[in-house]
Amino acid sequence: MTKFVYDFAEGDRDQKDLLGGKGANLAEMTNLGLPVPPGFTITTEACRTYLAEGSEPPGLADEVTEHLVALEKAMGKGLGQADDPLLVSVRSGAKFSMPGMMETVLNVGLNDSSVQGLASQAGDDRFAWDSYRRLIQMFGATVLGIEAEHFVDALEDAKKAKGTTDDLDLDAGDFTALVETFKGVVREHAGRDFPQDPREQMDLAIRAVFDSWNSPRANVYRRQERIPADLGTAVSVCSMVFGNLGMDSGTGVAFTRDPASGEQGIYGDYLQNAQGEDVVAGIRNTLHLTELERIDKASYDELLGIMTTLERHYRDLCDIEFTIERGKLWMLQTRVGKRTAAAAFTVAIQLVDEGLIDMDEALLRVTGHQLAQLMFPRFDRDADKERLTTGMNASPGAASGVAVFDSPTAVRRNKGGEKVILVRRETNPDDLDGMIAAEGVLTSRGGRTSHAAVVARGMGKTAVCGAEELEVDVRARKMTTPDGREIVEGDTISIDGTNGEVYLGEVPVVSSPVMAWFEGTNTERGELVEAVDRILSHADGARRLRVRTNSDTGEDSALARQFGAEGIGLCRTEHMFLGERRELVENLVLAETRDDREKCLQALLPLQIEDFTAIYRAMEGLPVTIRLLDPPLHEFLPDYTELSVEVALDRERGTLTEEKEELLANVRRLHEQNPMLGLRGVRLGIAVPGLFAMQVRAITRAAATLAAEGVTVLPEIMVPLVGTVQELQAVAAEIAEVVAEPESAVNGRPVEHQVGTMIELPRAALVAAQIAETAQFFSFGTNDLTQTTWGFSRDDVESSFFSEYLESGIFGVSPFESLDVEGVGELVEIASWRGREVRHDLKLGICGEHGGDPDSVHFFHRAGLDYVSCSPFRVPVARLEAGRAAV
Ligand code: PEP
Ligand code: MG
Repeated sequence: MTKFVYDFAEGDRDQKDLLGGKGANLAEMTNLGLPVPPGFTITTEACRTYLAEGSEPPGLADEVTEHLVALEKAMGKGLGQADDPLLVSVRSGAKFSMPGMMETVLNVGLNDSSVQGLASQAGDDRFAWDSYRRLIQMFGATVLGIEAEHFVDALEDAKKAKGTTDDLDLDAGDFTALVETFKGVVREHAGRDFPQDPREQMDLAIRAVFDSWNSPRANVYRRQERIPADLGTAVSVCSMVFGNLGMDSGTGVAFTRDPASGEQGIYGDYLQNAQGEDVVAGIRNTLHLTELERIDKASYDELLGIMTTLERHYRDLCDIEFTIERGKLWMLQTRVGKRTAAAAFTVAIQLVDEGLIDMDEALLRVTGHQLAQLMFPRFDRDADKERLTTGMNASPGAASGVAVFDSPTAVRRNKGGEKVILVRRETNPDDLDGMIAAEGVLTSRGGRTSHAAVVARGMGKTAVCGAEELEVDVRARKMTTPDGREIVEGDTISIDGTNGEVYLGEVPVVSSPVMAWFEGTNTERGELVEAVDRILSHADGARRLRVRTNSDTGEDSALARQFGAEGIGLCRTEHMFLGERRELVENLVLAETRDDREKCLQALLPLQIEDFTAIYRAMEGLPVTIRLLDPPLHEFLPDYTELSVEVALDRERGTLTEEKEELLANVRRLHEQNPMLGLRGVRLGIAVPGLFAMQVRAITRAAATLAAEGVTVLPEIMVPLVGTVQELQAVAAEIAEVVAEPESAVNGRPVEHQVGTMIELPRAALVAAQIAETAQFFSFGTNDLTQTTWGFSRDDVESSFFSEYLESGIFGVSPFESLDVEGVGELVEIASWRGREVRHDLKLGICGEHGGDPDSVHFFHRAGLDYVSCSPFRVPVARLEAGRAAV
């Protein structure tokens, strides 16, 4: 029979799939002999069954009873026992950490009688009644679905009545009264009494944690972090220890290294006389962890020792939650800690240098996403700035935008195209949508481990937290600085997550140190640049995939080369015909006589030669894939509707010229209902004689001229949107003729080149064997291949129904962003096999947007492609990910 419940002593850290991150790590710590309060974990499998069936799996209740009895025996007291109650926490814990997104209920087991027992055992009435009201509050909100505000308001009223703003000023009597008020809230809003039966409390809490897997905020978070929606959460039931038993008790959160910079030292927050959720919620401002040394040296020393043990054991930066109950330290949680991009790189290299991990492991500990973040710009230190205040540098970056004070406004204004900074007193998991929409987050309360800080770091969002001088008034939609200046919704502010500064207005930005290093403009290397360099070099040594770039100008090509591009995978020649040159192409397409057409081609030829020469020079010695013109026709013709209106008006006014009338007739003739599936790519080349020949002439003549100068050029001529080999054969024949022209020769021999095709249509993928007879290389155009495989218009769907698809979980991620491995990926693999069967040395590349997407790069590695090609800025990301895929 399936086992659904594991004692903490039964599991280990490798069982995250089954026990969730929290459960697996609690087991690991238990087995390391660290002081973990005893308990047990209910598996993710139980959760999955519950969610699928709508009820607990058979046998679960009995197993829970069995483990509860064992726990009661070990603790020497019963759950909710009147004279000396065992209390438990019921906590969520999925395989991947989802901070604050799911539910937790503390103090389960308290009721009207056991509260008395707890009070007499602890010798502290205030503590017992405070714990009881916390239970009703959490249980009410989490299990019974009552709006949290009802409890918060009642608590605020109690404080107001007492003339204080601090929970610590409330006494036992106040909390006893509050318990009654809270029970009334439950009765009123849930239509039932708060359950007095401890086991019922526990069972309902477990069920609520299961249910919270599917809460809207958990869904939003999973989508954002690309966490699969079907994993389910485990539930840990842990005997309670209390940080709210007086000033010799407390609770805290710590990191073994600075999660923002990676620096070694003591990082964390501590709160005396408090329970865990108080720290993370940022409700009270916390003490720096170093203060604990003064407050309770023995616990502090023990904690530091445990942190060292954990870091050595996990060979990584860990974060921990702990509680001190009357001078006794308890470990409540540990995990490999979330960190900023900079910390990920520096910590990985520190661990290598400390001999804890090797370079392969270091490479696996960083991601392309993190590297991309390090390339974002920073605020210009030398710019004139008006500083408003300084908070904690919780998550680095430089963000400017209009101040907004709630999540829905952030989402709304962002949808309207504005950049926003979400300003809150503190954030909670309900702010997630707003945080995603915002450029950055600013809070006036809470520390480095507050919700805002942890979530922003996880998302790579800029955050400044605990800017205590700011008075944030969410209702009035404004914040006030100590000198009385008011910032209202819509005012632009800038926040610097690297030093915690907050400025008025938009501050100009400059290259980050990593970017400056790529650009060759920074003077000092620093620990971060050093770490990036070492890890990226290791990736380069390890990877099999080459990384090229998509570029259409000499300038971009030179930049891409600085980023490490090993050639050009896609030069979109239609980008060379925008602006002034558009008219030349328009004339060409509309030309009716051979002469007219020839004139247009003659005008275009020298321009194209110039274009290609610049690119060849920048990419000297490296392959340059140039794609023959592939515009949807409508991009080069006047808009049909606009022109029709113009003609109608001219006709009415009697000013219509014959020329314009003719133009309209031509445009009508060429007008397409669905241009993306129309006269484009190779079809255009065949329909407009001489067009491709002109481009090939420019490609080969520019190459021949440079080759004669001794510059090594390696042009690869690429034919777009081929669906049948006959199309390619027709163009290849035209190419061969041009190549045979004397101007395309170097020392009497045709300039070296290759001819290949894009695979952008499912048919092309399926008949790849035939196409490979003629093509020397394939480059997968996964933008079009996704569009044509799914039948989705790439220009329309992302602003149309995709958001519903993403919200309802039909997609985890847009197939235009990350390759649909099952469908489009299968076509890539089919085309690769079939093509290589015919031509063993067929070169395979990909040049759609997926070439710079980390997950897709891993797939292309597995599929055996030779290279990926992406925009210049993604080149380092692709290099890193190609290395990660290979180790
Ligand atoms: C593609 O379709 O993937 C591609 C690279 O071509 P384009 O985006 O220019 O259509
Ligand atoms: Mg395409």
